[in-house]
Amino acid sequence: MLGILARVHTPTDARGRTKTLSELTTAELQNWLADQKQPKFRAAQIQEWLWTHFATSYDQMTNLPKDLRALLASQMKLGALDQVDQQVSSDGTAKWAFQDADGKRFETVMIPEEDRRTACVSSQVGCAMGCTFCRTAQMGFQRNLSHGEILQQVAHVRRYLRDTQQPQLTNIVFMGMGEPLNNLSNVLQACEVITHPKGLGMSPRRITISTSGLIAGIDRLAEEAPQYHLAISLNSSNDEMRNKVMPVNRRHPIHDLLLAGDSWSIAANWPITYEYVLIGDVTCTSQAARELAGLLGGRHCKINLIPLNAADDIALRAPTQEEILDFESRLVDAGLQVYLRKPKGQDILAACGQLAQKAN
Ligand code: SAH
Ligand code: SF4
Repeated sequence: MLGILARVHTPTDARGRTKTLSELTTAELQNWLADQKQPKFRAAQIQEWLWTHFATSYDQMTNLPKDLRALLASQMKLGALDQVDQQVSSDGTAKWAFQDADGKRFETVMIPEEDRRTACVSSQVGCAMGCTFCRTAQMGFQRNLSHGEILQQVAHVRRYLRDTQQPQLTNIVFMGMGEPLNNLSNVLQACEVITHPKGLGMSPRRITISTSGLIAGIDRLAEEAPQYHLAISLNSSNDEMRNKVMPVNRRHPIHDLLLAGDSWSIAANWPITYEYVLIGDVTCTSQAARELAGLLGGRHCKINLIPLNAADDIALRAPTQEEILDFESRLVDAGLQVYLRKPKGQDILAACGQLAQKAN
């Protein structure tokens, strides 16, 4: 009997594969359960196991009938990620590598600070944007992560914090591998579950989506989902410089990008964050500081300065402490709201721009 019913309606993804449980929308899960003549409330129970208890197997879902657990197990994978590596830095930063069925790898980082714990999640395997200072760029674009894979990264971090008796996760940043605005539908679908009271129940203002500056995506966020924070990786103070380090600038020059940022902050009624990677002799010069102050002065924004995290395979120099402080003070003197990001997890290559994994 179960075998006949089981053939009905198991949703597939864009690649034609059977979706995992973690990848089903609530409506898809409810439809699937209805096909199996199961009561609707089972959907909420199952989702609670996924996103409140971070279950990794159907056996753990002890308030579901055994038959249903067996049926689920026969029909679809749960979708918990296959961890192939975990490293913990001396500063408490943790990094995980996950591998998919095709051997492709992506990473997630958890950064602990005094008052917060931030999950830095990946939205893609690799990235197509080709920024010269970023190790992920060297992998090229491999594939988009599904919304279930994004959610399972967050579940993985929360499970780790719970199991290591650390305080709860407070923030999520889409600053791992990939360009989230090239995979925006999956990112938004994941954010919906992250912020849903019956999902992960986090406040939308605790989520930051970071982009290299894709204007159509920024406009879509302003229109559809202004509740999430937005960060734009500006990283340069003029087009000539930005063209060199971020090829996306040839499509979306700084002027257009700043206008899109202004529109977003009006729609969101919130200051936008501009990220600025400090590269010795390139973006971290006194002239660049003056230009940046000119670009951002009077705008509703914050600036996050990120000293370059150098890597052997990146031919760029991290600025000295003196150069960093000089750059920062010029912006502060110009009246801008500036934050200097402290590097975390460098010893395990977990800091910004250091994520890169080749498939086995
Ligand atoms: N693709 C998105 C989000 C991931 S990158 C984006 O570019 O915004 C997250 C942040 O890390 C970006 O601000 C990016 O400029 C920064 N970054 C990339 N490589 C870096 C490096 N080597 N050192 C410091 N920051 C880096
Ligand atoms: Fe992609 Fe962001 Fe790295 Fe640029 S900085 S290559 S957009 S992940």
